[in-house]
Amino acid sequence: MLRIDVRELAAGPVETRGELSPDDPALEGLDARLGAPVAVQGRLQAIGAERFFWQGSLRTVVEGECRRCLTPLRAPIQAEISALFSTDPEALDDPDAYALASEATAVDLAPAVREELLLSVPRFIVCSEDCRGLCPHCGTNLNTGLCACAPAVDPRWQGLRS
Ligand SMILES: [Zn+2]
Ligand SMILES: [Zn+2]
Repeated sequence: MLRIDVRELAAGPVETRGELSPDDPALEGLDARLGAPVAVQGRLQAIGAERFFWQGSLRTVVEGECRRCLTPLRAPIQAEISALFSTDPEALDDPDAYALASEATAVDLAPAVREELLLSVPRFIVCSEDCRGLCPHCGTNLNTGLCACAPAVDPRWQGLRS
């Protein structure tokens, strides 16, 4: 469950554990394809009047292609999350703070999960740091073998050859 009842928090810290499915509306607009639900866990506690601190983590898998050789890949993602939920507008200067309506009866962790996920998704993935990519002429995957194309000539040597 990613919505925790405020009354439950009055009694003490609450262990949080739940999942967001890849098609959850909270994840709409995410610029990545998820190959697994986002698994969330952590601990939420009241740290003052209408202030709640959540220490948690998320885990999921991003699906995509190697940027260089286009091989389909699944990249695991893991991130720690610290978030403050508060009804106090002054607390919201903190980049890790999320607004809570003053009449809120529950703390919804989903916005913090979304935010952290947006930061954690890599802009691109590669199958390996050493990936040699595709030949720009014939498209051969240069990780699996060489092609018959002439090797590219370094432009600095061009003058010497002519
Ligand atoms: Zn690759
Ligand atoms: Zn080639």
